Amino acid sequence: MEQYDLEGILEDEFGFTSFRPGQKNVIENVLNEVDTLAILPTGSGKSLCYQLPSKIIPGLTIVVSPLISLMIDQVKQVKAKGMKRVAAIHSFLTPDERKQVLRNLSALQLLYISPEMLQMTRMQQLLNNENVGLFVVDEAHCISQWGHEFRTDYLKLNQVLHQLGDPPVLALSATATPEVQEDILGQLERPEAEKLIYPMDKPNIQLSMAKMTNEQEKVEYLENYLTNQQAPTMIYFSSRQMAEKICFELKKKNFGRIAFYHGGMEPVDRQLVQQQFMRNELDIVCCTSAFGMGIDKPDIRLVIHFHLPPRIESFIQEIGRAGRDGRECTSLLLYSTGDERLPRMFIESELPSDEQIEGYMELIDSHGRLPSYEDSTSLELSESQYNFLSILTEPLLRSPSLDKAEAERMLKGKQRKRLQQKLTH
Ligand code: ADP
Ligand code: MG
Repeated sequence: MEQYDLEGILEDEFGFTSFRPGQKNVIENVLNEVDTLAILPTGSGKSLCYQLPSKIIPGLTIVVSPLISLMIDQVKQVKAKGMKRVAAIHSFLTPDERKQVLRNLSALQLLYISPEMLQMTRMQQLLNNENVGLFVVDEAHCISQWGHEFRTDYLKLNQVLHQLGDPPVLALSATATPEVQEDILGQLERPEAEKLIYPMDKPNIQLSMAKMTNEQEKVEYLENYLTNQQAPTMIYFSSRQMAEKICFELKKKNFGRIAFYHGGMEPVDRQLVQQQFMRNELDIVCCTSAFGMGIDKPDIRLVIHFHLPPRIESFIQEIGRAGRDGRECTSLLLYSTGDERLPRMFIESELPSDEQIEGYMELIDSHGRLPSYEDSTSLELSESQYNFLSILTEPLLRSPSLDKAEAERMLKGKQRKRLQQKLTH
């Protein structure tokens, strides 16, 4: 590799005096065109790992990002740092704005794009004419159905990569179990990629848990606890209803400026709450896991879990939002007897039942191909159950010697193994 004064570029172009752990290694890999999966904690500065190289690498750096608000934020941030040749393309742009981005594609160094935009044939044609120097998959755990934020649009990225002439890949995530890591690299068809893993170590987060016997006790404990706590605070709930209910109760009792946030709200309302929280116009947000991905607020002092999150990765990611400024902060988990029932049900509901597997195999038989989601309505599959079946059957059916009964057996075996693994986690 050519020698670059990476520290110099960091200081001159980004105004930072030193690299955070992991950043330099990832950047060197990227500049050497080594496919890389980097696992760095939330808030550790993953964006810099492609923003800096995008200034050096010839051609375009494409960043696939799952959240439009995240893209908009990032473009704003890098523009504020003086980087001009950057844009985002997503469904919130007006037709005129979109045209303008597309017209200037060749002049860009860095393009953020949503996965669904990337699936559009027209988009792919346009990008085909570009020299793509680096393909970044941000929040790469979204590609894995075993990950905690699985997104169907992330699945076809391997095809997009081929279309683009197989550029070097950088996959980034804050939380990925070894099995999710394998899945990410498998889905991207980069099994040989180098893994650079920097585990989360946040000594400034004090972890605590309080055990109760019922929900009423929890509410009382929570109110008591909040009376002498510092904002900003996030309180995570597993149910939208509870997030709203506790929000109203805390408001009534004058616990400060409080709002709720969950996936059932209108995008504009969500945006508003997020902005108010970022601007310190709110002390407490009562939210579900829908809140937080990509939130870059340095001074969150307290993250409370009113319920057990469905997965350990969600818990790690959510508490990791506290204390990004390195100052003291607290994570409090409220547990009451039987709370594990909900995550358990959740895990079980993500996998198809034996009957659904059988029904699905019969559909394959009668259609002579993989059933679409609509084809399989009679089986009442959830999206994740459907994904489980289609992702696992496709490779199975490619094996010419495999008969239906054997495929069905293998599927059932995998489903049981998966369930076991998830439940013992
Ligand atoms: P992640 O994607 O890993 O959660 P971000 O890329 O959003 O984190 O970065 C989090 C914050 O850290 C941003 O405000 C960013 O400007 C800052 N940051 C990144 N790298 C450095 C660095 N080397 N020194 C100081 N601050 C940094
Ligand atoms: Mg990020």
